Amino acid sequence: MRQNEMFLLKLGEVVLKGQNRRSFEDRLVANAARRLKSCGSFQVYIRQSTIYAEPTTDHCDMEAAYAAARQVFGVVSVARAVPCEKTVEAIVETARDYLADAFASAGSFKVESKRADKNYPLNSIQISQAVGGELAEAFPQVAVDVHNPDLTVHVEIREKYAYVHAPAVPGAGGLPVGMGGHAVSLLSGGLDSPVSSWMMARRGVELEMVHFVSPPYTSRQAQDKVLELAKLLTAYCGRLRVHIVPFTEIQEEIRKNCPEEYFTLIMRRFMMRLAQAIAKRAGAKALITGESLGQVASQTMMALAVTDDVAEIPVLRPLIGMDKVEIIRISREIGTYDTSILPYEDCCTVFTPRHPATRPRVEDVRAAEARLDVEALMARSLEGEEWIWAKP
Ligand code: ATP
Ligand code: MG
Repeated sequence: MRQNEMFLLKLGEVVLKGQNRRSFEDRLVANAARRLKSCGSFQVYIRQSTIYAEPTTDHCDMEAAYAAARQVFGVVSVARAVPCEKTVEAIVETARDYLADAFASAGSFKVESKRADKNYPLNSIQISQAVGGELAEAFPQVAVDVHNPDLTVHVEIREKYAYVHAPAVPGAGGLPVGMGGHAVSLLSGGLDSPVSSWMMARRGVELEMVHFVSPPYTSRQAQDKVLELAKLLTAYCGRLRVHIVPFTEIQEEIRKNCPEEYFTLIMRRFMMRLAQAIAKRAGAKALITGESLGQVASQTMMALAVTDDVAEIPVLRPLIGMDKVEIIRISREIGTYDTSILPYEDCCTVFTPRHPATRPRVEDVRAAEARLDVEALMARSLEGEEWIWAKP
């Protein structure tokens, strides 16, 4: 590790003003600090819309911290940087030393400067010229090219120090988790719900996960797979509470008492009701699912109306207008794809009707469901509920 190397995290959504901005920044600093903790001891603070994360010992895992910083929602870009004195000589010396490898493999370069300290005697163009001139002499084999350089050397003159870094890499974007309220996300082992959970977390929503299990129809491996998916999401969201809710009796009762074409719809109504009960208890204000319009029979517009019929709080469906290829692309990007495609059955895939209703009417489904003691079934299911933390 290069001595003094640290991270500069730039904030997104800077349109926020006043009190919102304060809470955005406070959350972000707290979230970033919590996430970096597992990589070593870091001092994390914010100045002028930039978060500084400085290792306080030599034992920090800088690669892990770099990866972790890029997964914090609310951060638009991350740069590894080295601070130095605010003189041209010190900046040149730092760049020469710190970016020596980058210079060795570049054919051309330019310097781009920013001056957060407006009292600094040189303006940004003058800084770039002075530093660029010296670096051109230090690396005569690397040409100056201000339009399309291989390497851009960034110089930021900030309050106390100047910071030198190569281009920043994109961060996770979005809003800091906790700013967007609290919601219960229905997590299955499939491709969609990890992506829908991630998308809402990216809008700052703090998640509480619910997973329904139907042993012996669903296996322990299927449940472990879901816990693994939750664990993968914690890299972005921090630790997550996962509620495991028994669903076997409900499914068997539906199969015994209800018309086959409505199995899935009635089952989904139970999922919504149970998730909602958990949301109410936890103070969560919405549900999140991975449904996408038209993807399966239970996701037609009429089928969604049947499901929403039992919802008293908003059901957020961030994937509703997305194609499967887009969902798959995101699941690869966020790292859940390989786990999602493991072939374990979900409770949705047991007792699936041969001919599910695709144009169901709410009244018909309500009538079909009337043969069940909904309250009692829900109460017994919730009695068997357990929860565990998924941790980074
Ligand atoms: P996914 O890829 O997320 O499994 P899917 O395309 O398989 O979705 P369905 O099985 O109909 O579609 O499920 C729709 C949504 O219902 C899921 O995205 C998820 O939010 C929720 N869901 C399904 N099964 C479960 C389960 N066992 N536990 C919790 N939520 C579930
Ligand atoms: Mg599924």
